[in-house]
Amino acid sequence: MCPQSRLSQNVEESLCCPICHARLRRAGESFECVDSSCAAHFPMIDGIPILINERSSVFSIGDFTSHNDTFFGGAEGRLMKTARRFIPKIGKNIRGKSNYARMSKALLEKSPSPRVLVIGGSILGQGMESLANNPAIELVESDVSFGPRTMLICDAHDIPFADESFDGVIVQAVLEHVADPYRCSEEIHRVLKDNGLVYAETPFMQQVHGGRYDFTRFTHLGHRRLFRRFEEIDSGATGGPGMALAWSYRHFVLSFTTSRTLRTALLGLTSLTSFFLKYFDYYLVNRPGSFDASSGYYFMGTKADHVLSDRDLIKLYRGASS
Ligand SMILES: [Zn+2]
Repeated sequence: MCPQSRLSQNVEESLCCPICHARLRRAGESFECVDSSCAAHFPMIDGIPILINERSSVFSIGDFTSHNDTFFGGAEGRLMKTARRFIPKIGKNIRGKSNYARMSKALLEKSPSPRVLVIGGSILGQGMESLANNPAIELVESDVSFGPRTMLICDAHDIPFADESFDGVIVQAVLEHVADPYRCSEEIHRVLKDNGLVYAETPFMQQVHGGRYDFTRFTHLGHRRLFRRFEEIDSGATGGPGMALAWSYRHFVLSFTTSRTLRTALLGLTSLTSFFLKYFDYYLVNRPGSFDASSGYYFMGTKADHVLSDRDLIKLYRGASS
């Protein structure tokens, strides 16, 4: 273990340049690309390497060295943060916990000590506790913001790891926030070993929640297509039409004002008057209607060497019009 890095030595040896994919070597408090024609340098802050390809990312290395607000960080006032602690949540991830338990089991069937890349891992994902607390599973938690669990800063469009470095990749509530989710899916495929596992959760019926860093939503089939180079193990809704309705109601009300104080008050009011809608999802989730109208979808699959054709994709429709 390098004294200043949060990554294990094995993980550090799998790092590659996010620009040219050549190997990276430690140079004191930073990393440098061994390819002399690239010769890129990447700093490390508090043991966290900043491995950003500035030629394609919306982020620059300077955003992190100067601690600018990159993603979610600082966007919320103190009043809003306090309010969130006391008001009931309008969302409920119904499948996260059981899906992560299933993923842990599948990972350990493939390897006694699987290594898993978490994209968007600055904080622990909903339902991920059992997987994260399993000492046999090594998590490599990456993000584009500093958080309690961030081990490295990287952008999912250019994952700074060599091909086939991981047994699993987790990407929960992230792909709506990347400019090009198809490219990120290709990168996930590249860094996974043969038969490696991917687990993704991505919203469908949710309003903008990442400020300027929020770009895309997926239907159930749209999400399946995003992972067309993977064999499906399971997919479905994480939060159903009840949660989607609560989100729509909240954002309808919020759209009347830009006042931060009023919006905080309305956040509380709409939570108190709609939090119960999520409980309908225990009944609705995985019924046909939920495949047309859910708050978000999950996909669990294994890396494949074939591609799901669009003709086969449409046969997978499970919604109410089938
Ligand atoms: Zn390079």
